[in-house]
Amino acid sequence: MGGVSKRKSKGNNRAARHERATRRWPDQIRADLDDGERARVLREEQPVDFDKPALGQFYCVECDRHFESGATLDRHSATKKHRRRVKELLDSPPYTQKEAEAAAGMGAVDTGIRGADME
Ligand SMILES: [Zn+2]
Repeated sequence: MGGVSKRKSKGNNRAARHERATRRWPDQIRADLDDGERARVLREEQPVDFDKPALGQFYCVECDRHFESGATLDRHSATKKHRRRVKELLDSPPYTQKEAEAAAGMGAVDTGIRGADME
């Protein structure tokens, strides 16, 4: 028996999985930005979260990121990465459920009878 127990790094990517599960999608962010009140609440009324940098009090809505301080957040807002992100969000219209269904090949419920003459 050889049994040097090689432990697989189980659960090592737990944080990554959590990140993926809680990450907000661009269309969600876009919806928040379109609704000024929601964006304001996200910016200013972040719940205290001990798992996040600075208890989650410095948040960039566009990038869905938390920062250590107001200064880092300010600095972040001036970065190319952030500005590109903002531009992307504004340029790309949010996905709709209809689009998602169309992409999955199950759209066109709204066009009425199939084969009806098109204009
Ligand atoms: Zn940002």
